[in-house]
Amino acid sequence: MPGELSISAATRAATLDRLERERFDLVVVGGGITGAGVARAATLAGLSVALLDAHDFASGTSSRSSKLIHGGLRYLALGDVGLVREAALERKQVFRIAPHLAEPRWMVVPARSRAALAKLRIGISTYEKLGAVEAPDRHQNWSGSELAREEPVLDRERFPHACAYREYLTDDARLVLANLRAAVGVGSAVLNYAPVEAMLLEQGRAVGVEAACRLTGRRVRVRARVVVNAAGPWVEAVQRLETPDAPLMLHLSKGIHVTLDAERLPVRNMLVLSASDRRSLFAIRRGEVVYLGTTDTSYARGAERWPTIEREEVNYLLEPLARYFDVAAVEPRHVLGAWAGLRPLIGTQGTEPQELSRRDEVISGAAGVVTVAGGKLTGYRPMAERVLEAAGRVLGHMPAPCEDDPLPGGDFSGDLASLSAGLERETGVAARTAARLVRLYGAEAHAVVTRGPNPIVPGASLLSGEVDWGVMEEGATSVRDLLYRRTRTALYEPGESERVLDAVAVRMAELLDWSGERTAQERSEMRARLAADLDFREAGAPQEELGSG
Ligand code: FAD
Repeated sequence: MPGELSISAATRAATLDRLERERFDLVVVGGGITGAGVARAATLAGLSVALLDAHDFASGTSSRSSKLIHGGLRYLALGDVGLVREAALERKQVFRIAPHLAEPRWMVVPARSRAALAKLRIGISTYEKLGAVEAPDRHQNWSGSELAREEPVLDRERFPHACAYREYLTDDARLVLANLRAAVGVGSAVLNYAPVEAMLLEQGRAVGVEAACRLTGRRVRVRARVVVNAAGPWVEAVQRLETPDAPLMLHLSKGIHVTLDAERLPVRNMLVLSASDRRSLFAIRRGEVVYLGTTDTSYARGAERWPTIEREEVNYLLEPLARYFDVAAVEPRHVLGAWAGLRPLIGTQGTEPQELSRRDEVISGAAGVVTVAGGKLTGYRPMAERVLEAAGRVLGHMPAPCEDDPLPGGDFSGDLASLSAGLERETGVAARTAARLVRLYGAEAHAVVTRGPNPIVPGASLLSGEVDWGVMEEGATSVRDLLYRRTRTALYEPGESERVLDAVAVRMAELLDWSGERTAQERSEMRARLAADLDFREAGAPQEELGSG
């Protein structure tokens, strides 16, 4: 039985009926973090809300980020003090409402000399002042012995010093889902795989949208007093449904990440590395893997859903490893998984993406559509408030968001380690599985295990309960939804994806009444997607690498 916070893939038809029947205060186009944040804030302010996504929730940029709720230390260099301050303060708020999705971790910056360390500390101290960082979270200098203990494979001859400051690790797609489920819990109607294809206009004003259900072909007209366009890299296309000649405003920038087995690169924290062009890269330990990112390059090919990952981009991320760590050479063939996303930045082509601000902009269009563009995952709450202010001008009254209750899964005290120990004790799941589950589901991990405590296939970490939960509570309608954006297996345990995908397809077929043909198609699409993620391993590889099977 789906719960009251559920987005159940099994009740799509009822949601479609409701979307057509009701007149909402707001219809939000786009179910990434921006749209999900707006939907939640609007429902907390007492508005009725519908939200539609063209594909899966969070399938755009909001599942492909570096997964940091961060103050953006690097934006200090751009002089964007307001943005840095807002982001630094916002970390505490996300931690308050979803401690499992904002895990405080040390970000370690290795330094070659005392002078470099001193310079670094000035920047970090300014950043901590701006963000009113409290004493336990303030930066530390790590001595040689601390560094040896914390980061044993760091080359300490080259980097004898380090400064460690606090940043918060999140899970972007799960933050989106948590916000959407919170919005559903207070009455929103949300639907994935429902692209908005037309604007409903009356006397020049937008009064709703027309969308198509990709799974059934059914078309729905969703009527609302305000339309919010939160389509991320696709905002311009949605703007053009309102005003065909709306000026272009986005500068898309591509960023990739790659995942390595933590046994190959045994870092323990999150580290800042300097790339060959002196840009900062992150190496982030998460469970049994370390992921590296990111690139930041202009992308002029239009907003694609799965931008191709080039071998030279992967080489760029791997290059610093030999300079920083005492580990065997890491090559593209060692990469286990990879993802690419497009930043919807505001700016003109011709400017370097690193120089463009990460600020958001809220625009009221000619027919009253409120478009929001730019921004970051970190600032999604204040961004949603700015959108509500603009919506209030159309509605004729200012909706006031009320108290910010915890997000689903965020209602617990103590840290993730004690939550994980409790889960292990009470349910008998392995320690490694418990640690993974509490990061994904927080206090709801227990309920997930109750749905099915056994591995989906013998020896797997993925539990059968996670498949049921993903479908019945979080709206997964395909194997890719499940493994890329609900359980995140494809990102954090890519090797396991291949092993579990047949069993996942079979269980989803039972839950969603798929035909044999659909089940087979799901399997082959997932396999093809996993292979495509790693295409770069073959492209341009030296012959001896290709032959090695
Ligand atoms: P999206 O997540 O792309 O959502 C837009 C949604 O609109 C999509 O799901 C799409 O399907 C839907 N849509 C499009 N057209 C239609 C239509 N016609 N009808 C219905 N739906 C439609 N930020 C941070 O704070 N921390 C980080 O560590 C960080 N790292 C990043 C690393 C990279 C490589 C990148 C690319 C970005 C990073 N960001 C980070 C920025 C952050 O990820 C983005 O700002 C944020 O995810 C954008 O969310 P969004 O909801 O605006 O867009």
